[in-house]
Amino acid sequence: MTSTTEYAAALKLVEELARAYPDIPIEAIFKEDLLRRGMAWSAAALEVAARYKRKAYFIFSFDMVPIAQMEQNENTKAPEEIRLAGGPYEFKPVVVSVRLNPRSPYRVEMQDESLVLQLDGCPVAAVELQRSPAYYAHTLSNGKPITDICPTIEWGYLLYLTVFRLCQYFGAGEECQFCDINENYRQQKRAGRPYTSVKSVDEVLEALEIIASSDSDSRAYTVTGGSITGKLEGKSEAEFYAQYPEAIERRFPGRWISKVVVQALPRDEVRRFRDAGVRIYHPNYEVWDERLFGIYCAGKARHVGRPEWISRILGAAEVFGPANVIPNFVAGIEMAKPAGFATVDEAIASTAEGLDFFMSHGVSPRFTTWCPEPLSVLGKEQEGAPLEYHVRLLQAYRDTRAKYHLPPLPGYGDPGLGRAVFSVSAFMDVLPPVINQRSAPEDR
Ligand code: SF4
Repeated sequence: MTSTTEYAAALKLVEELARAYPDIPIEAIFKEDLLRRGMAWSAAALEVAARYKRKAYFIFSFDMVPIAQMEQNENTKAPEEIRLAGGPYEFKPVVVSVRLNPRSPYRVEMQDESLVLQLDGCPVAAVELQRSPAYYAHTLSNGKPITDICPTIEWGYLLYLTVFRLCQYFGAGEECQFCDINENYRQQKRAGRPYTSVKSVDEVLEALEIIASSDSDSRAYTVTGGSITGKLEGKSEAEFYAQYPEAIERRFPGRWISKVVVQALPRDEVRRFRDAGVRIYHPNYEVWDERLFGIYCAGKARHVGRPEWISRILGAAEVFGPANVIPNFVAGIEMAKPAGFATVDEAIASTAEGLDFFMSHGVSPRFTTWCPEPLSVLGKEQEGAPLEYHVRLLQAYRDTRAKYHLPPLPGYGDPGLGRAVFSVSAFMDVLPPVINQRSAPEDR
């Protein structure tokens, strides 16, 4: 059980960092803290949340306890995201992904008929919830709920198509150590959630048909899933994943910004995605340090290798244009025990070197703040990285992008505090807004 003293320390830490790094908005500091610690919900707050758009478990668990330990059935009631606004710190709106952790010092409570986020028992901001879009009530002709086939995140901006819910990097020696994709699949099935392991192209098209007929909020879709090291349904990774954007772009040409998250693939395979109409390619890099890449991403290191992974990212930049190649880093795993860096200085120096390398080639990475998921290797018995690491990473990211004059990230909506919708890292909240435009140019 977390003690009251620890709670008080949590609020003090945020306020101290806000004073030490005045160029990082306090909203972004709280957001990073929420992402690395998770949040608890009171029973009354959960009952309210259950009437809004609920967590769909769009790929990983992104929780800090397994479902089996959720005593309030939080997995069926908690929202996908919350939007924080107002309160004693006068928050501009900031969207935060919900990572459940009943032991977190952050807690959403009911107060005077409204939801409030508290830390150390002190109010932080008002909590807003997103209504379920009308299409969430639909099922496909085969009876599957649309929330299984095509949930949305980022406050409705992004349609998320995890078309393969498993990964062929399997077991402790192959799976990425921060990832719970395979274990999460099993726990969701055990919990009775409809959770399709391999979605068919027809299911995806039917879901998008329903969405296209009623929705005007979504701007982009992501096609993704686990890695395919051999074959899936007789297809290689590129063949399997490319069939989805090929079919979607044939049926709905240019209706959404098309993104794929797959491994770093050879150039001819990458071209297939581009030719299908994909605009954004995410060959996720996860962690920059060579030693840590080998440990944390053992499967990728063995099957592809770090130098080849880097070379393929740069090759893809020639196919898509560098601004459209956006590798993800899992922010914070650099400091995971036992192999990670012991100090914030070392961790920042390493990742800043990686950011500088890619950005000097016009390629801008992005982050998902590490969620220590207990069903993953790294998340079993430890907390996330220190909050100061995350604050300094936001600085390094913003400043390195400015150094290379990189354009706004396409496929992420508007950047800037009060406008950004990206919910699993605060990197979009700390970028400068695009002035005098309703949306980032690539998103119109
Ligand atoms: S490649 Fe790694 S991060 Fe991606 S799904 Fe497989 S285990 Fe998870």
